[in-house]
Amino acid sequence: MQIAEYDNIIVGSSPLNLIVALQKLSNNEKVLLIEENEKLGGAWYTKSIWGYKNMEVGCHILKNKVSGYSILTKNGLKLKTMSPKPSVLIAKPNGVSALNKVLNTFFYLVCKIAGKATIERPFYDFLKSLKHGRQERSEYKYFPNGCFELVKKLELDILKRNGIIKTNCKIKSANVQNSPICVTSSSGEQMTCKKLILTKNFNIENITWNDTTSNPIQRVLIGEHYVLRLNGKKKSPFSFIHVLEDNLINLISDTGAFCEDVPNTELVLCISVKSGNGVKENNLIVNSIESKPTKTEQNQCAEMLLKKLKDFNLISVSTLMIDFIYESYPVNVKDPNAIKELKERKNPNVEFLDSTDLIDSLIQYC
Ligand SMILES: Cc1cc2nc3c(=O)[nH]c(=O)nc-3n(C[C@H](O)[C@H](O)[C@H](O)COP(=O)(O)OP(=O)(O)OC[C@H]3O[C@@H](n4cnc5c(N)ncnc54)[C@H](O)[C@@H]3O)c2cc1C
Repeated sequence: MQIAEYDNIIVGSSPLNLIVALQKLSNNEKVLLIEENEKLGGAWYTKSIWGYKNMEVGCHILKNKVSGYSILTKNGLKLKTMSPKPSVLIAKPNGVSALNKVLNTFFYLVCKIAGKATIERPFYDFLKSLKHGRQERSEYKYFPNGCFELVKKLELDILKRNGIIKTNCKIKSANVQNSPICVTSSSGEQMTCKKLILTKNFNIENITWNDTTSNPIQRVLIGEHYVLRLNGKKKSPFSFIHVLEDNLINLISDTGAFCEDVPNTELVLCISVKSGNGVKENNLIVNSIESKPTKTEQNQCAEMLLKKLKDFNLISVSTLMIDFIYESYPVNVKDPNAIKELKERKNPNVEFLDSTDLIDSLIQYC
């Protein structure tokens, strides 16, 4: 049997991976991109639910950095200025550091006095930047039709440039000590490449290098969120809210706004939740996969979220829940020593992209 050979095998299909694939193709290199799921996008995935197509289910936001936005626009993606601007909601200050406590208490009181639920994120960022130093900033931008548009456009461009995409295919093992690198899929198919490209959330069970085979995955954690389908109205307009000092809610995104077929009598909100024993990974609070809630617990949590949205004064008190879904996204936490070895590039045939949020990753690697 002939083994297929590529210049690059890219593991996973996050937007960063897709843009890196396009860069390699424009250098006339042969690219195979492999994704274990049916759909591309990694954490930037969409679902068709309640009869609505391509619903964004992951509370997505692009950090407001001009150089990151220009990488997206250079790739032919259209961005719009987010309106209303993203905002910050401070539940009740109990800040972790003295300075955060003072700052959050100040904002909390300003909101209370002004009778507003949230403050604009750019204003909050500005005051934060007094602590962290001046940073490159822009208005917050977004994809008018959500992250489906981003992923689909990049996928089509890869195919147009003769890149090969395999979905429903998981790389189970990789032998990276010789050139070419040899990878094996869970169905036993073998492929070789000059360069193996990995991003932070890769899930390869066995990697062989320096004559040893190791499993770099230490634990799998899940980023949890609920998508609430509501019949009601917002109290005042909002797009994306970062919730501080709350023990349950992390982020709220009006995901229905990016989905053309949602009628204006309905609200579809995606809420990223955290739990008391959540672990911080990739700037998100995620829970261990063992702590996945039962159906009853999910129902209780969804009801609690609805009540919180009303208490926060974000939606009208008469708002009713039509339905909800619970979603979890796997985050594969690695053995730090294995990652250190990858980062130190002991093997020049492995390109490890230490992906964080999309914009910062693009600025660093594209
Ligand atoms: C729930 C969630 C929401 C997020 N929201 C934002 C946001 O709004 N804005 C932002 O900038 N950042 C966000 N992030 C950060 C996010 O990590 C990055 O934006 C980016 O998606 C990271 O890319 P990645 O390639 O490391 O991981 P992922 O996006 O997780 O992509 C990894 C992909 O590789 C595939 N894969 C892994 N192993 C294999 C294998 N062996 N074989 C085949 N396929 C494999 C996985 O199935 C997955 O599709 C979010 C992260 C999470 C977990």
